Amino acid sequence: MTNMEHFKELLKNKGLKMTTQRGIILEVLSECPNQHLTAEDIYELVRKKQPEIGIATVYRTLQLLSELELIDTLDLDDGFVRYELAGTDGSGHHHHHLICMSCGKVLEFEEDLLENLEEKIELTTGFKIYNHKVKMYGYCKDCKEKL
Ligand SMILES: [Zn+2]
Ligand SMILES: [Zn+2]
Ligand SMILES: [Zn+2]
Repeated sequence: MTNMEHFKELLKNKGLKMTTQRGIILEVLSECPNQHLTAEDIYELVRKKQPEIGIATVYRTLQLLSELELIDTLDLDDGFVRYELAGTDGSGHHHHHLICMSCGKVLEFEEDLLENLEEKIELTTGFKIYNHKVKMYGYCKDCKEKL
């Protein structure tokens, strides 16, 4: 299955039609894995494929796709909201971020050991956890050597 067919399925599952804007934005994000693009970055890339698209449409579509949990948002505390494709199943949960406090590099970490913790929290507090976001702050390999 191509990415586009996959996205079409995801949208259909949410009761929505694939439109050109939705398709292009999902395509741009799938072409830039691990990049954590801002809305402006995405707009620039989208414009190369579809010059007549407006930034308002890009914002609106990003909002919609993130409400549908087809894309994830990430806040790196720099005043920008960043976007990336959610897990392939559209569950909106697949990796966590390691942020270098020296060079600002963002690494992704796939391992997820938090399910146990979630279970424990639910057992002890009765709080049903739906999702979590984890940001780890530290120094990347390169910066660590220079410390
Ligand atoms: Zn990421
Ligand atoms: Zn670094
Ligand atoms: Zn997790």
